[in-house]
Amino acid sequence: MAAETMEQIVSLCKRRGFIFAGSEIYGGLQGTFDYGPLGVELKNNLKKAWWKHNIYERDDMEGVDTSILMNPFVWKYSGHEDTFVDPLIDCKTCKGRFRADKLGDSDCLLHPKLRPGQCEGQLTEPRAFNMMFKTGVGPVESADSFAYLRPETAQGIFVNFSNVLTATNRKLPFGIAQVGKSFRNEITPRNFIFRVREFEQMEIEYFVKPGTDEQVHDEFIKDHVDWWVDQIGLSRENIKLYEVPTGELAHYSKRTVDVMYKFPIGWEELEGIANRTDFDLGSHSRQQDTLGLSAKVKKNEHSTEKLTYFDHQTNKHLVPYVIEPSAGVDRGVLAVLTEAYHEDTLENGEIRVVLKLKPTLAPIKVAVLPLKKNEPRIVEMAKRLKNDVQRTGEMRSVYDETAAIGKLYRRQDEVGTPFCVTVDFQSLEDGTVTVRDRDTMQQIRIPSADLANYVRERVG
Ligand code: ATP
Repeated sequence: MAAETMEQIVSLCKRRGFIFAGSEIYGGLQGTFDYGPLGVELKNNLKKAWWKHNIYERDDMEGVDTSILMNPFVWKYSGHEDTFVDPLIDCKTCKGRFRADKLGDSDCLLHPKLRPGQCEGQLTEPRAFNMMFKTGVGPVESADSFAYLRPETAQGIFVNFSNVLTATNRKLPFGIAQVGKSFRNEITPRNFIFRVREFEQMEIEYFVKPGTDEQVHDEFIKDHVDWWVDQIGLSRENIKLYEVPTGELAHYSKRTVDVMYKFPIGWEELEGIANRTDFDLGSHSRQQDTLGLSAKVKKNEHSTEKLTYFDHQTNKHLVPYVIEPSAGVDRGVLAVLTEAYHEDTLENGEIRVVLKLKPTLAPIKVAVLPLKKNEPRIVEMAKRLKNDVQRTGEMRSVYDETAAIGKLYRRQDEVGTPFCVTVDFQSLEDGTVTVRDRDTMQQIRIPSADLANYVRERVG
């Protein structure tokens, strides 16, 4: 059984160092969270698994890492300045600010058991609120010395389309992927790391010839759902697809399918997979003309400034269509924690909290535990073994002797360590150690020299 309440996850995350509230010692900063020692490992492992599947295991992908700060023209012509807005409602009585389309999820500030408007509070009409953060650029503050913090990583890919094309000689179809931070000034950040103001995205812009876009869109939907299930360990029954209705589509989208996950707060979006058509490349290219930036393009048809593709079959330039799978890293971490969290009742009635993480995602792969911490030969062998596994197995391993063995097992179960290894007196005699499996709690004895291979074969 997975986690049923957000409190179970929030409490585990704080207790064991996965995730903390941002700037906690000063009372926090709403919509920000910090990843602790185990959280950063889990998050990195998720990003690594995504990169491996989407870049290394395909022949049609390139990766980039582009700037968070971009020329404000990018956001003007991408349409975000005008349309990246949420409807905002103020309450004149409690001074609360709420998203008009999420009133059902918001609490009145004076009467937290009531929704805004259910109290005597007077609500204003909704007005458009742009969610992009602005910051000053350079030492002099003036009206035009500003930049936005990017609200999606996608535009960094679009503006580099021709650079990547020229540098790699790619032919359509091909994709460019990026993992990085995005910022949105959400009106009501809430539900732990589900809706925050600073988060990470794993995005692909996959460029295709117009006309092939619909089929490729369907292929990505299937491939990405299968990845969340087979590689990341989410249950298929906890995932469903939501066809975004035409009236709710983003300004660039022809069709968007959201991959929804059953979080403890209910079914919510984990990843959006959109057909962005030729909207972004087309819009940026047109503006190159309007702004007179395309003078060079006319001299050189392979200039990197016009975001088009030269099709050698038709001898014409075309603007590719784009399929965009866009997943939130933080929502991915939350889904993984929700799915992995289990409370088992042991034979003696004790509750065992165990994170049944896929071994590839586990922050720690092996914990080496000495059965007698006051026997120097056992301690020495256990420490040596930990270092050997770390070095030869190239996986995060820890040594722990700070409690009795039962307690040490519980600690590792709670953070999802797939294997605990104990060193005892027999180990000193015949060089064998016991390996305990996190999920079955079964133990086997193997030669210590085989440990790194044994674990490596099982953690992938
Ligand atoms: P929502 O409707 O939940 O606000 P969205 O449709 O605006 O999400 P997209 O613009 O499609 O989200 O962004 C792609 C992905 O980025 C989302 O599926 C989600 O995983 C992640 N994401 C978006 N906004 C946030 C946020 N405020 N906090 C955490 N993750 C986010």
